[in-house]
Amino acid sequence: MKHAPAYNSRSGWNAFLPTRQPKTDLPSGRRFRTIVVGAGFTGLAIARRLAELALKEEVLLIEASTIGEGASGRNSGYLLINPGEPSANAAGFRENWAGRQMGLVGEGFELLRSLVRSNGIDCNWNDNPLAITAAATPGVEKTARETRVTYMGWGLDTQEYDRQDLRRITGTDYYRYGLQSLTKALIQPAALHRGLADTLPAAVTLLENTTVRGFSGNSPVDVATDRGEFRCDRLFVANNLHARSLGIARNRMVGIYTYGAFTPELGDDDLQKLGEEPDWGILPAHRMGTTLRKTGRRLLIRSGDSYESELSTDDARRMLTTLYRNRFPLMRSHELEYTWGGLTAVTHNGGFYFGQVRPGIYASVGCGGAGVVRGTVQGKLLAELACGIDSRLLSDRLAMKAANWLPPEPFRGIGARLQIALEQRQAGQER
Ligand SMILES: Cc1cc2nc3c(=O)[nH]c(=O)nc-3n(C[C@H](O)[C@H](O)[C@H](O)COP(=O)(O)OP(=O)(O)OC[C@H]3O[C@@H](n4cnc5c(N)ncnc54)[C@H](O)[C@@H]3O)c2cc1C
Repeated sequence: MKHAPAYNSRSGWNAFLPTRQPKTDLPSGRRFRTIVVGAGFTGLAIARRLAELALKEEVLLIEASTIGEGASGRNSGYLLINPGEPSANAAGFRENWAGRQMGLVGEGFELLRSLVRSNGIDCNWNDNPLAITAAATPGVEKTARETRVTYMGWGLDTQEYDRQDLRRITGTDYYRYGLQSLTKALIQPAALHRGLADTLPAAVTLLENTTVRGFSGNSPVDVATDRGEFRCDRLFVANNLHARSLGIARNRMVGIYTYGAFTPELGDDDLQKLGEEPDWGILPAHRMGTTLRKTGRRLLIRSGDSYESELSTDDARRMLTTLYRNRFPLMRSHELEYTWGGLTAVTHNGGFYFGQVRPGIYASVGCGGAGVVRGTVQGKLLAELACGIDSRLLSDRLAMKAANWLPPEPFRGIGARLQIALEQRQAGQER
């Protein structure tokens, strides 16, 4: 089992940013009060909150890759406040489950917004964006209309868009119905990821290009890395899918890769074919569908799902090119640039693995396709749990169902591959 993801190509978002010097110098000491494994949005939030809460807390935050290159720097940059999967709600959490879940993610969103403002993080933060959940087929239009009714039941009055509206906004005839999504902001994800990592409190030491390979003991905990051993009183595991290689949530998550690419910078002629609005986003109404974003002079396309192994960059580019050309047949003249894959940890019921694993060991893993704000709030709450700080949000988080058990391989892989193939087929033109 691999200890950390190793991608075939760089994140396109990170490639746009100036060169950054990763923090790879080993610290002078090997003993820390706390070690956090994984510096994605979850790990960053844990480390920051611990440093805020505990005076003299010395935190070592260990990241296998470099900041901006993990999943946190290669996503599509939608800050969503969707309440998640209803099946992840435990019996004691039924009452107003959606409101309570949105309260949780809303807190993550506000936290990110205030950090971006107070630290002056330049990540193209776009509040209240034109971000529409769109359907291309009658069957999925029906589902999207039902979703709107559900939203209204939660007190959210979301705008609808017909085919003409969608053509005017996006420049394509592909979509027949849309509703305003629950996206609170659009951002440049690698810039946000870097901005958060580079403004951590002084008590946090970030160590990049260092992979945790295992740990033993409770307190103290010995942490083995490819650059030697460290020791701490408490360990936080926030490396998402690869927590499995540390013996955590082994039978709770599967790895699903999804893929993104940008067009080159478009000339004025091509840009005009992408509608009237300067920036917009399309989220798929079907879960095997395709995400689009017009950002500056480029279009982002994200789609595809593969089980536990990454497609070659050429195969991913071919797949994304077909989906792009299906939507924009008038823009055939250029090739996609910066194609990349990214790994998400998917659980059967959408639940997370969150909380104290055993004395001295904490984990928040299982972040699927909408984890920027969710990872952030869970990281904050996990730190608060470890410091004994109670809150309504933490009680709500603890009341949610954990990730379901999954059968071992080869059954798990057979089942997951079949389900992906079936859902992709059902998705048809939504892909
Ligand atoms: C293409 C794509 C598009 C997406 N679009 C969106 C979107 O628009 N909005 C949204 O909210 N979410 C989106 N997501 C999902 C989002 O990126 C994840 O949910 C989020 O990154 C999860 O954050 P995390 O910190 O929990 O995990 P990660 O971001 O995966 O961070 C875990 C970190 O741990 C490190 N690590 C792993 N193993 C080890 C180890 N052994 N030792 C040390 N470090 C280790 C990894 O390198 C990684 O940086 C998308 C994902 C992808 C791939």
